[in-house]
Amino acid sequence: MPAEIIDGKAIAARITAELARETAHLARSFNVQPGLAVVLVGNDPASQTYVNTKVKKCHELGIYSEKHVLPPETTMAELLQLIDQLNRNPKVHGILVQSPPPPQIDEGKVVAAIDPSKDVDCFHAVNVGKMLIGDTDGFVPCTPYGIMKLLEYSNVDPAGKHAVIVGRSNIVGKPMLALLVQKAKGANATVTCVHSATPDIGAFTRQADILIVAIGKAEYITADMVKEGAVVIDVGMNRIADPNAARGYRNVGDVAYEEVGAKAAKITPVPGGVGPMTIAMLMYNTLKACKRHHGIA
Ligand code: NAP
Repeated sequence: MPAEIIDGKAIAARITAELARETAHLARSFNVQPGLAVVLVGNDPASQTYVNTKVKKCHELGIYSEKHVLPPETTMAELLQLIDQLNRNPKVHGILVQSPPPPQIDEGKVVAAIDPSKDVDCFHAVNVGKMLIGDTDGFVPCTPYGIMKLLEYSNVDPAGKHAVIVGRSNIVGKPMLALLVQKAKGANATVTCVHSATPDIGAFTRQADILIVAIGKAEYITADMVKEGAVVIDVGMNRIADPNAARGYRNVGDVAYEEVGAKAAKITPVPGGVGPMTIAMLMYNTLKACKRHHGIA
């Protein structure tokens, strides 16, 4: 039987509809508007698209947004000056610096300069640490948070399951591990994380009740690497040539969707799986930052 599709677009729409209602309530009851500042250094086309999508989503939900596009030759000092201004701007509750920046920019130093209470991406060490120890006072990084929500809305309880994560990046793999291992509702999994230094990845992925793949390698996970009835979350977003597509390419995930979908119980598509959830959770974090700033429960 083909897998049930976990429809990230539909789940994200449900979450953002709720956020739009909450934004309206904040305006009505407290005269408060959440605000997000998005900073882009350089003119990378993919980054421009991501930034524009985030700004558009803010408009849809009634969230104030500022877009700062800086030239590719921007210095660290100039960028840090902007971050300082945004840290002090009361209209801005969340700050996001689009990745990857040009090589002269030290991303670690930029992240460290963002006020942790405005770090809606959850890249700052303070928020990463809070997430690891299960302190819900901080933020949860948007993509892993979106995946936790996908599992929740699809009635997949990780408790007691073996979750295998492929990839150990700071923005997906490692936080995913931290979230799933928590002794908390919606988590409590036994977690394995495999990466490029793991010999025989399939030996691990075949044990997964929940398989989360974030490596950036087109259709890397094939049916023989997946257990019958597994829940498969595909984070990957890879562009492959396709002469039949109008643009000459199409986007695929890290999982061979058709063959794995024939074996899995549930699977996320690419596009339309994890991607929309990442933006929804960014909006969620912006509202959370705003409410915390104003002391609203
Ligand atoms: P990344 O920073 O490049 O990290 C990739 C990870 O995968 C690394 O830990 C790497 O191992 C591991 N890896 C690479 N090749 C491997 C292989 N053959 N076998 C096992 N492990 C391997 O990537 P990322 O930022 O996590 O992103 C991963 C993918 O998810 C990309 O396609 C990206 O576009 C996508 N993504 C999508 C969203 C979304 O919202 N839809 C958000 C974030 C990322 P080492 O650590 O050993 O190098």
